[in-house]
Amino acid sequence: MDLQLNGKRALVAAASRGLGAAIAESLAREGCIVELSSRSLANARGTAARIAGETGAAVTAAEVDVTDEDAVRGWIDDAAHRLGGIDIVIPNAGGPPSATFDETTPRDWDAAYRLTLRSAMSFARSARPHLTRGGTVLYLTSVSVREPIGPLAMSNIFRAGVAALAKTLANEWARDGIRVNQLIPGRIATERLDELDAAVADRLGRTSGQVREANEDAIPLGRYGEPGEFAAAATFLVSPVASYITGATLHVDGGVLRSVM
Ligand code: NAD
Repeated sequence: MDLQLNGKRALVAAASRGLGAAIAESLAREGCIVELSSRSLANARGTAARIAGETGAAVTAAEVDVTDEDAVRGWIDDAAHRLGGIDIVIPNAGGPPSATFDETTPRDWDAAYRLTLRSAMSFARSARPHLTRGGTVLYLTSVSVREPIGPLAMSNIFRAGVAALAKTLANEWARDGIRVNQLIPGRIATERLDELDAAVADRLGRTSGQVREANEDAIPLGRYGEPGEFAAAATFLVSPVASYITGATLHVDGGVLRSVM
């Protein structure tokens, strides 16, 4: 199927590694003009150069800390000016630290809010003036918006906010032909997941390998997902082929969420 992405201008945040990098690469393979950002310009440039080399697509890089709303707005305004507009925006960020509610302080919550929910709103506010009919925003959340995950209290709570934001924006912007969707990763094998497994292993006095094995046992497909499998779903959802899909939530989780809806 031709996803009709050739020449579409896409911004992918927090994309020097992990899910963001995989999505940037997938979009580049489909012919998008991609700009990816990271807190480190050197890292962003390294990933952009790798993807450009592998795909032959135009991939540029920017330095953006997504907790800084001025930096987000500056990036999006500047990229829209240089690229002559924007078609696709993929907000992203690292996850808040692993902790139970009892282990956190109000200061931790302020930082997690800035990283997860406030940054998601910054992208919406900053991108809105540049998005026209056919434009789209795709938020990445987590299975925790359906079932809170044990030691991820801050992520559980603020990602639920991002899910509500995605649905709210989908409702508000649909009349202008702008689509907003949410993509839920289950356990996709990135460095973030390695770090989380290591944290759980420490907590339980086990090895990371044992934690991974136990996690994989609980996944109907019996394994962690690959970043490319997640990116493929993202690429479809932001493509013009998905033109009648907005306000949707798609799970890429190997079947781990077992509820009917
Ligand atoms: P990752 O940690 O591998 O990558 C996240 C990237 O965000 C890193 O490059 C990090 O440097 C960057 N980052 C952190 N803070 C930033 C900031 N303030 N500004 C800009 N960039 C920042 O994570 P990932 O596995 O690629 O996941 C992406 C998001 O999806 C994370 O929020 C993660 O918690 C969430 N998630 C991932 C999974 C999974 O299975 N991988 C599952 C559920 C949720």
